[in-house]
Order: sequence, then structure tokens, then C-alpha cells
Amino acid sequence: MALIVQKYGGTSVGDTERMKNVARRCIAAQAAGHDVVVVVSAMSGETNRLLKLVSQITDRPNEREQDVVVATGEQVSIGLVALAIQAQGAKATSFLGHQVQIVTDSTFAKARIKRIEAERIVEALKQKHIVVVAGFQGQDEQGNVTTLGRGGSDTTAVALAAALKADACEIYTDVDGVYTTDPNVCPAARKLDRISYEEMLELASLGAKVLQIRSVEFAMKYKVPLWVKSSFSDDPGTLVCEEDKSMENVVVSGIAYEKNEAKLAISGVPDMPGVAAKIFGILDAQNIVVDLIVQTASRDGKTDVSFTVGKTDLSKAREAVEQVAREIKAGGVETDSDVAKISIVGVGMRNHSGVAAKMFQVLSQEGINIQVISTSEIKVSCLVQSKYTELAVRALHTAFGLDKPSTVG
Ligand code: ADP
Ligand code: ASP
Ligand code: MG
Repeated sequence: MALIVQKYGGTSVGDTERMKNVARRCIAAQAAGHDVVVVVSAMSGETNRLLKLVSQITDRPNEREQDVVVATGEQVSIGLVALAIQAQGAKATSFLGHQVQIVTDSTFAKARIKRIEAERIVEALKQKHIVVVAGFQGQDEQGNVTTLGRGGSDTTAVALAAALKADACEIYTDVDGVYTTDPNVCPAARKLDRISYEEMLELASLGAKVLQIRSVEFAMKYKVPLWVKSSFSDDPGTLVCEEDKSMENVVVSGIAYEKNEAKLAISGVPDMPGVAAKIFGILDAQNIVVDLIVQTASRDGKTDVSFTVGKTDLSKAREAVEQVAREIKAGGVETDSDVAKISIVGVGMRNHSGVAAKMFQVLSQEGINIQVISTSEIKVSCLVQSKYTELAVRALHTAFGLDKPSTVG
């Protein structure tokens, strides 16, 4: 007998018929002899709806109160899924984050899980209940409601799987696995049978929202066998697992895009020690995550510094940076939300040269201008105007030989 954690995303619990389908799947897993813990997201569109309500009140919400609002979506789902399981004749109990308990830090809207005290889950499993846990939410040491960032139910599921030493964690979503790129953007995308934790971590951090990045970090750290599957089919899906030798033969294994970043540019920055530390220190103090950073060559003792932040942090970042710009006597601050980051990823890049050059060539052939470039051992990212996202992804997908056989040539 195994312990399995299953997670169902927003589309999979999008209406009550789909919830009944989830209930059937959980009961089937239990009937196959397993203990089943099921993590559910809010019904599709619900978290966006709640965020919109918040934005109708204020454009700079207090994040503690915002979390109180957005955490409610998952409460409705767990109650309904538990009822659906009971209606089909099995035993079920639902738990909110604070009931489990999922203890996080106090970084509202993007809290990190510190520990899970799962005694109530273990107890309910012993009584042969299917345990239904709210994704995305936890509570901090002071008992405040927190949420884990968009897509955070994936992380709830993997963290629970690690805490319970589950035999597998299955993420059920609206696609039947991890693809070479987003299948909704590139029809030629190919489903992968396996992908290494490291590549999945890069793809997730570069925008492939099929798994939240922290869920992959947890899976990698605690060696949780992680499956991505469809809740609408019986396809075996994709296994996210340790890297093996064969994976290194593939130079580029996936392409990701991120449209949720915005660029800030500070012109006329004095070129002297301590200035970058000051700019980025103030952003860090406000928990703003900075992504791509470029500094131009110094001319007359001045440089231009550009960087990207998440779109939701843009107004907060702009305010902070304008203040620093005044203090250091820099020129102006400009922002651009009309950007997208396109990235190619592959562990095979470590042993192959010319990958970045090929990416730049493909983008130039399509007439796409590159605004910022960033590389690491296993990825190359380019910031481009957002209207070119689909074109760039498809062209790179073909150029790096990732297209499905039927669509090649
Ligand atoms: P859920 O609501 O189930 O958590 P998400 O919308 O968060 O689902 O994630 C699934 C979506 O991720 C897919 O519909 C697809 O558009 C997108 N996606 C992006 N990159 C990939 C990829 N490489 N493989 C599969 N899906 C991807
Ligand atoms: N409901 C949350 C969101 O939409 C969490 C999740 O679905 O994973 O981001
Ligand atoms: Mg998701």
C-alpha cells in the first residue's frame, strides 16, 4: 500500500461535474489500495476574480488583507470536493492550511513553507478518510493567513508529499504532462516522458507555469517522485526525476516564456562603487524579486541600469527606484510593461557551444530585437517586445529540433 498525494488545479475543479470527476479519481486510487491526500486549487478564474475585487478597492493593497481575501477560493473547493467524495460513498475530511498545519513565513502573497505538522492528516488517513487539503494557503507563526504565490497549490502538494514521505506526488492539470514548450502556444510542442528536476526548475522559474518553481525545489530537495498528468485522461504523463546521462545528449530540451515581467531603466547613473548595492538593496528590503539586470558601459562617468521585476511589483519598484535615483542624482526612471522573456533550457548546453549564437540568429531572422540577454550554464534568456512571444517560441522550437515528428519539414 502506498501513500499518494494528488493535486488538482483550477480547471480540474472548474465546476461541480469536474469535482465529481476528481472525487471518482481519488476513490479509484483508494480502491487500488492507497492512502490518498488530495490538494485542490480554487475553481478556475476564482483567484483572479478575488484579486480583481481587491484591485477595485485599492491599487496598493495591504498584502495581509489581500491574502485573507484570495485564500477563500480554495476553501470552497475543498468543501465541495469532500462532499463529492462523500456523495460517492467514501469517507472524506477537508482541511484548511491552518488546520493541517502548514506553517509559513510572514511574506504575505509569496510566503514560503517552513514546516508542516500533519498529525491530523495522518489520523484521518488511519480512519480510511480521503484527506482534502486547501492548496495555496498557510498560516504564519502569529496565526495570520498567508498565501504561497500564484500557482502555489503545486507547492502545497509537493511539500505535503515530502512531509508525509509519500510514495508519489501527482499533479493533475489541463495538459497531459510537461511539454517541450507551452502546448497552448506552440502546436508542435512534444510531451516529455521524463524531465530532470534541474531542467524543470529552470523552465518553471522562466515562466512555464505548469509547475510552480517552489514545488520543483521541494521535489528536488526531498527527492519526491513528481508526476504531471491530465485529470481528463489516463495518459501516464511526465515524470520529473533525477538527471541521467541520456538527458545530456539533448542540447535544448525546452522553451519557456514569461509575460509577467516589466522593465525599469535608470539613466545617467553615477558610475561609482556602492550605487548598484544601493539600488538593489532598497528593492530587496521591500521583498521585490529582481530578475534580468544590465548595466551599459560607462560614458562620462555615467551608466544606464535596466532590470526586470514582476509586473505586480512594478509600481512599488518604481516608487523605490525613483527615490534612490533622486538621492544618487541619476537621470530619469522609465518603465516598460510591454516585454516578454523568452528562454531556452537544456542540461546539454553545458557541453555544447554556439547555442546562444543560434538563438540570437533565429530571433534576428524573424526581425525580433533583443533588449536584454541573460545566460546561465543551462539556459539563455532574451527580453523582447511582448507581441513577438508566440513567434519567437515557435521559431526557436523548430530551429532547435523540438517539433513533433509529424510537423517537421
Ligand atoms: P493548473 O490550474 O492545473 O495549476 P496551470 O494553468 O497553472 O494549471 O498550468 C497548466 C498550464 O501550463 C497549461 O495549460 C499550459 O498552458 C501551461 N504550460 C506552460 N509551459 C508548459 C509546458 N512546458 N508544458 C506543459 N504546460 C505548460
Ligand atoms: N488558486 C491559486 C492561483 O490561482 C493557486 C493555484 O491555483 O495553484 O494561483
Ligand atoms: Mg498551476
